[in-house]
Amino acid sequence: MEKVHNLVKKQREYFQTGETKNLSFRISNLKKLKLAIKKYENQIIEALNKELNKSAFESYATEIGLVYEEINQAVKYLRKWDKPEKVKTPITHFGSSSYIYREPYGLTLIISPWNYPFQLALAPLIGAISAGNCAIIKPSELTPNVSQVIRELIEESFDDEYIAVVEGGVDESTALLQERFDYIFFTGSIPVGKKVYEAAAKFLTPVTLELGGKSPAIVHKDANLQLAAKRIVWGKYLNAGQTCIAPDFLIVHKIVKNKLIEYIKSYIQSFYGPDASNNENYARIVNERHFDRLTVFLEDGRILSGGRTNRDKLFIEPTVIDQINRELPIMQEEIFGPLLPIIEYEELTEMIKTVKEQPKPLALYFFSQDKDLQNEIIDKIPFGGGCINDTVYHFASPNLPFGGIGKSGMGSYHGKSSFELFSHKKSILKQTTLFDLPFRYHSTKNALKKVKFFLK
Ligand code: NAD
Repeated sequence: MEKVHNLVKKQREYFQTGETKNLSFRISNLKKLKLAIKKYENQIIEALNKELNKSAFESYATEIGLVYEEINQAVKYLRKWDKPEKVKTPITHFGSSSYIYREPYGLTLIISPWNYPFQLALAPLIGAISAGNCAIIKPSELTPNVSQVIRELIEESFDDEYIAVVEGGVDESTALLQERFDYIFFTGSIPVGKKVYEAAAKFLTPVTLELGGKSPAIVHKDANLQLAAKRIVWGKYLNAGQTCIAPDFLIVHKIVKNKLIEYIKSYIQSFYGPDASNNENYARIVNERHFDRLTVFLEDGRILSGGRTNRDKLFIEPTVIDQINRELPIMQEEIFGPLLPIIEYEELTEMIKTVKEQPKPLALYFFSQDKDLQNEIIDKIPFGGGCINDTVYHFASPNLPFGGIGKSGMGSYHGKSSFELFSHKKSILKQTTLFDLPFRYHSTKNALKKVKFFLK
């Protein structure tokens, strides 16, 4: 605790020097971060392979590449994003002009999870640097190899008074949360998110909570079934289903259900072969606790495909489960594993009503060719973000703010939104001294009448 306290104190003193706010400093540190990641690329890929059996392709596509893309965007546009923004001034303020300045919060804390342990620790850091903050990263203790690489690459590139990594689990996280930060960015589960929110409230520290939940994929009867199946299989079994925005369960129109299931089974075969345990592109479950939690769900419904497991290898086959109702345990919590339960519907309106009764999901995917129906889903169901006729892919666009709503979180980031998230908007009115409009002063003759003329 003392170490953490001293680190926070050191960062606060450093932030006060104002150095981190300098635009050239920020850009050069973003570039420095990219160079450090380039240097450590092999170690990162190796560590991800050790933790989750991620292939080099998956590690690059879903972790390292995404971080490069975020850095490239920030380096390219930071000068533009950072410019004070001139906004309109109302007639009541005649003579003055209005601006929004971006100001860093100060000390930021980034707490990240294990499922994309590299990307989810580094992507927020890009926002923190871009906006001119200091940062402490607390990566997940469940992926210690990746945490260690993150610490090494950060330590090699930055002084800890500017950016530091604190490795460890609940104790370290709790010690950090006892300190006063100026912004906390948390990615993880809902129960821990609540604890973080509570700890932040003590200091009135603003927070972003990137949480999880049950994100549905809905396939309507007019969808391109083959493509829907392909994209659902890709999004669901990526990282063995341990993706916060993976389609958690499938809701399919009754009349196309069997056909869709056939396509899903055939894409599982074509992506992972007859035995996914031999496929280098298929990830493993992170640990025994999560393995045991998931295998209990295999008792629900009827397994249509997959279902084989191996605890020693932390392997669970890509699995499709039918005869599911919403009362079963598998429908009570976020699955976060390679199990795809299927629910059918007949009436779109009824289905929308049922989905709306659930907590607002982090993501929703709707497959249909009908633009009116697409808009109806977007309009009627609240959710964090998602895709029409695809899954997961919206996450990879730096131009789409990513985040949840309600139980799935608050705040959104990526690209410019990351810069905005880690910046306070400082509103400034620049007033003229050439004249002084009288009507705001109560001592003006007919003050009320005049104010009513302008504000009606
Ligand atoms: P978690 O909440 O268990 O842990 C996240 C982080 O919080 C870790 O660094 C951990 O050390 C720390 N932590 C754990 N207990 C703590 C406590 N009592 N006090 C303070 N800190 C504590 O989550 P996880 O298991 O690592 O990740 C899985 C969850 O994260 C899933 O629910 C998933 O949906 C969600 N997730 C969300 C996103 C997103 O972007 N919205 C991304 C990935 C994962």
